[in-house]
Amino acid sequence: MKKARIGVLALQGAFREHVRAVTLCGGEAVEVRRQSELDGLEGLILPGGESTVMGRLLVEWNLLEPVRALCSSGIPVLATCAGLILLCREILDYPRQPRLGLLDASVRRNAFGRQVDSFSTELTLDPFPGLDSGDSLEAVFIRAPLIERIGPEVRCLACVQGKPVAVRQGNLLALSFHPELTDDLRLHRWMVHEALRRSR
Ligand code: GLN
Repeated sequence: MKKARIGVLALQGAFREHVRAVTLCGGEAVEVRRQSELDGLEGLILPGGESTVMGRLLVEWNLLEPVRALCSSGIPVLATCAGLILLCREILDYPRQPRLGLLDASVRRNAFGRQVDSFSTELTLDPFPGLDSGDSLEAVFIRAPLIERIGPEVRCLACVQGKPVAVRQGNLLALSFHPELTDDLRLHRWMVHEALRRSR
């Protein structure tokens, strides 16, 4: 049976956990560090880590434009934490930080402050493929960003402290938290299914 080819941006950060999750969901995970590794991908994951470092490496390794083009092509994209920051149009207080800028949203980095570096909470996402309405999911936040503004094309799927932490804009699913750090693979499974459905 054909496996969905899912790229995981592997410049820095928590990419190994995503590779593991994709593999457990029956996908073929491809670690992406150079342009040629983007060829033939049917889905892409932008992991958590340090968005300043990832942004700088995207520029240095000539990946910013090709990754932007791939994300704009309509393949499913799952962005977590620093990945979400890279995807946003506006990074508040960091106007010069390199980004993909495809998600019509303004994000605040490290929005929970130093006293609450990381925490985990149960979240209920708005109806989403693979999740029954009312199902909750464990969300792990690590020096997490919060979204301060979303554009009209962006749907908020869940909030914390009244601000979006899970949003969707067409093929882009962006989360402030880390689903790859739990055993709950429902969001990765959505990606793999969606990638296969599109390539059929
Ligand atoms: N604080 C990081 C940043 O601003 C994101 C943290 C994470 O990805 N867990 O890039």
